[in-house]
Amino acid sequence: MKRRVRESQTPPPIAGRTASFQESVIREMTRLGDEAGAVNLSQGLPDFTPPAEVLEAAVQAIRSGDNQYTFPFGTATFRSAIAAKTARVNAISANPETEVTVTCGVSEAMMSAILALTDAGDEVVIFEPWYENYVPDCLMAGVRPRFVPLAPPGYRIEADVLRRAVGPHTRLVILNTPHNPTGRVFSRRELEAVAEACRTHNLVAVTDEIYEHIVYDGVEHISLGSLDGMRERTVTISGLGKTYAVTGWRVGWIVAPEPLSAQIRKVHDYLTICAPAPFQAAGIAALGLPETYYQEMRREYAARRDILLPALTRAGFRFRWPEGAYYVMADFSRFRGEGYRDPGGTVSPDRAFAEHLAVEIGVAVVPGSSFYVDGAQGARYVRFNFAKEAVTLREAVSRLARLRADGEAG
Ligand code: GLN
Repeated sequence: MKRRVRESQTPPPIAGRTASFQESVIREMTRLGDEAGAVNLSQGLPDFTPPAEVLEAAVQAIRSGDNQYTFPFGTATFRSAIAAKTARVNAISANPETEVTVTCGVSEAMMSAILALTDAGDEVVIFEPWYENYVPDCLMAGVRPRFVPLAPPGYRIEADVLRRAVGPHTRLVILNTPHNPTGRVFSRRELEAVAEACRTHNLVAVTDEIYEHIVYDGVEHISLGSLDGMRERTVTISGLGKTYAVTGWRVGWIVAPEPLSAQIRKVHDYLTICAPAPFQAAGIAALGLPETYYQEMRREYAARRDILLPALTRAGFRFRWPEGAYYVMADFSRFRGEGYRDPGGTVSPDRAFAEHLAVEIGVAVVPGSSFYVDGAQGARYVRFNFAKEAVTLREAVSRLARLRADGEAG
C-alpha cells in the first residue's frame, strides 16, 4: 500500500526529445489576445468565408456518405486534380498514382517527409527566421537543424552563407516560399543557389508552398521542384488551408518523385491513415475554381495589405514590404515607451511589446523571437498578419493610432 503511494508521487516520465518544447507562441498570443479582447493579428488564419461552392461540396460529401477512411494516399480523383494543378501552377509533372499523397495539412506533410527521409543524427538546413513548426519537427525526428540566416532587412538567401551550413551529415533543406514570417517570395536566382547546394551535395529539398497563390504586385512564385535537375530531389508541399480560407479542414498534399513518395506514404499511413474524406471531396471543387477566383483573392489580399501596412508606417514601425504570404515582420525599435519595458529584464523586449500591444492597445501579434533559435535576433520585431476582413483591419488600425513612436507608447 505504502509503496503504491510513493509511486504515485513520482512524476511519470516524459521524452527527453520533447522536454524543451514550449507552447506554440503563435497560439499562446492568440489566447492572450482573446482574453484581452484584442484584434487577433497573431495566428495566421483568415476570418472571412471560404468560397460557397467549396463549402457546398463539403456538405454534399458528408450527406452523400463520404464519411469513412479513404485510400491512405487520398482519393484518386483528388490526387488527379492535384497533379493537374501542380503541372499548371508549379510547372512540375507528377504521376497521381505514385507521386501525389494527400495529408492532414502541411504540418503532417512536413513531419512525414522529415521522418521518411532522415535518420537520427542527420542535419536539416532551415532558413532563419523560420515558421515555428520546423524546429520541433526536427527534434521529434531526432535530426539537428542547421540555421541559415536570412539577414534583415532584405531577408535574401545568400549562396555562400548557405554553402557554409551544408556538411557531411546534411540530408534535407527546408524551404518556405512565399515565406512566413517575412513575406519574401524567393527569386529564381536565390532558388538556383538552393538547387545548386542540393545537386552538389545530394540533398533533398522539402518545400512548404502553402502561400503559393498569395503574391503581390505581379511577383511570380517559382517552385524549386521546377528548376533543372530538381524534380527528382524535391518534395513539394502545399494544401487547401490558405488558398481557400479553410485552415481548419487540415488538407495538404505532397508531390515527390516515386522513390521518395513511396517512403513518405508509409510514414503518412502510420501517422494518420488518411486526410478527412469529405474535405478531400471538397478539395476537388476548390482546385476546380476558375482563374478569376485567384485573381480576386490576390486583389483582396493586396487591399488588406494596403489597409494595415501604411498604418504601421504612420505609427513608426519599419519593415520590408511583403511580396507574398500575409505577414509582415515589423521593427518596433523606434518605440521607446516604458509601457512594454520589463524592468526586471526577464521578458524579452519583443515579448513585452507584444503583450503591451495585446493588453493596452488591443492588437495581438507574434513576438519576433519565436522565429529564431537565438531569440535575441528577433527582439526588435513583432509579426503582424493581415489575413483579415477589411473591417477587422480597420479596427486594428484605429487602435494602433494610440501607439506613438515618439516615446509615449499607449
Ligand atoms: N501558419 C499560421 C501562422 O503562422 C498558423 C500557425 C499556428 O497555428 N501555429 O500563424
